[in-house]
Amino acid sequence: MVRLEVIFLGTSSATPTRSRGLPSIVIRRNGEFFMLDCGEGAQRQLFRVGSGLNREAVILITHLHGDHVTGLLGLLQTMSLAQRTREVTIVAPSALSRWLKTTAEILHIGLTFQVRFNPSRAGTVYRGRDYRIRAARAVHSVEAYSYLLEEFERPGVFHPERAKALGIPEGRLWARLQHGRKVTLNGRTVNPREVTDPPRPGRRVGYSGDTRPSKSLTRFFSHCDLLVFDSTFSSKDEEKALERKHSTAREAALLAKEARVRQLVLTHFSARYRNVGRLLREARSVFPNTIAARDGLKLEVPYQTS
Ligand SMILES: [Zn+2]
Repeated sequence: MVRLEVIFLGTSSATPTRSRGLPSIVIRRNGEFFMLDCGEGAQRQLFRVGSGLNREAVILITHLHGDHVTGLLGLLQTMSLAQRTREVTIVAPSALSRWLKTTAEILHIGLTFQVRFNPSRAGTVYRGRDYRIRAARAVHSVEAYSYLLEEFERPGVFHPERAKALGIPEGRLWARLQHGRKVTLNGRTVNPREVTDPPRPGRRVGYSGDTRPSKSLTRFFSHCDLLVFDSTFSSKDEEKALERKHSTAREAALLAKEARVRQLVLTHFSARYRNVGRLLREARSVFPNTIAARDGLKLEVPYQTS
């Protein structure tokens, strides 16, 4: 069992409020650490939620608007002050590397570790041993991407009694079958499905970044276990959402419903709403399994049982 946890560091939009910081989300999985956007103040929030800075780290930036990136330089500086030596991977629109390089030079920030830079593009932008991260174009006022962390399918449960009944000796051959590979014994081929249950689906966690809803994002996020979607505005401010290329909470819910996701999390709330209860109600009337993010919220993403 691999633990998969999503932690909200900042849940406001462009302006922070007393209770909400600028956009940033962390996904923790098996000691690995993925940060989605890095608004100003994200590093302090990280300490608050108890996440260390010396893990395997991948930082994914959706687009180059200040509220989504200005925390990055401070975070990298703190990692250096902590003598980090492990490489950090950054996935972002390509101009980000220019900004980082220039600013680090002007401010005399020397990094103690390598930064591997993967420019964002539609398709797979990062690959781990048993998962990958894909990107799709979002619909915003500048080049913007949505991201999806997708675990690979896991082999089904292995039944030792079935293997024994087929006369397969315990050891190397069992391991092969458990990993979904065929074995041949005394001239007979045993298929892994004879001794294991069907493969179990991996989990999918999606993050829209700033965007209008779109057909292609609906497809991209199809059957997500957890979808975090731009919910900057209430339906009563729908024209603002259109004009500024954001979504309303209701639009997020309509997309979640059509994409058949399991759970929707609203985030990136405009500072104009002191209370987001109204946005939550608007979304729930369309897609009941919706929650509103708040700074510090931690969500565990369970495996699907059926
Ligand atoms: Zn934003």
